Amino acid sequence: MALVQIDNVSKIYQTGEVQVKALQDVTLSIGKASFVTFVGPSGSGKTTMLNIIGCLDQPTKGKIFVGNAQVGTFNRRQRAAFRGHTLGFIFQAFNLFQVLTTYENVEYPLVMIKNESISKRKEKVLKVLESVGMLDQKDKFPDQLSGGQKQRVAVARALVTQPKLVLADEPTANLDKKSAVNVIRLMRDMRDKFNTTFIFSTHDPGVMEEAEVIHTLEDGRLVSGSRKNNVGEI
Ligand code: ADP
Ligand code: MG
Repeated sequence: MALVQIDNVSKIYQTGEVQVKALQDVTLSIGKASFVTFVGPSGSGKTTMLNIIGCLDQPTKGKIFVGNAQVGTFNRRQRAAFRGHTLGFIFQAFNLFQVLTTYENVEYPLVMIKNESISKRKEKVLKVLESVGMLDQKDKFPDQLSGGQKQRVAVARALVTQPKLVLADEPTANLDKKSAVNVIRLMRDMRDKFNTTFIFSTHDPGVMEEAEVIHTLEDGRLVSGSRKNNVGEI
């Protein structure tokens, strides 16, 4: 069964007189534990797509299911609960708290959403930091880390609540080529380890090559010929 099902989704932004069709009649499904990227030029609808899947925005038309939930119908409180428990987010600019250590940044989502004992939290944080290879950096602050290391911390923070789905909008845009590919490979390793579905966007050809499924957007439309790496046609 698909984890994410998108049925005839359109998103129209109306600003004054101007209408922008950010997504036009997109239908697709994304399987559990898959490693998927949305690619396309600037303005093609990648961020809109991820925001709609992540419940940060709602479609103008169409339906989105994540698991059994139809996320487009959620109210504010349901959206917040869903984001906290089912989703993890990774951002282009890392979005770490500068005043918190690596450990504290990763602990933060657990403090926010779960009634968990300190010892249970500690166990989870240390485990995920070890998984991303950042255990030895746990007491450092973000400004003592490289860009690639910061994004590793952000990957750990996204995974610490054991979400079904991690969404990452241009997660490598602020990284050099080598760190970019390393972060994407880390995400793929984490998918292998935890069976978490990852959906990310990029316009970097070197990065998109690392995905298993590539969906191409053009002016808000899904271009036919979306492909699956190494496995032939979808
Ligand atoms: P990408 O992430 O691929 O660069 P976006 O999803 O950000 O593309 O944008 C798709 C289109 O929707 C663009 O034309 C953009 O200008 C427009 N758009 C995005 N967000 C808004 C908004 N909040 N209000 C109006 N137009 C928007
Ligand atoms: Mg974007």
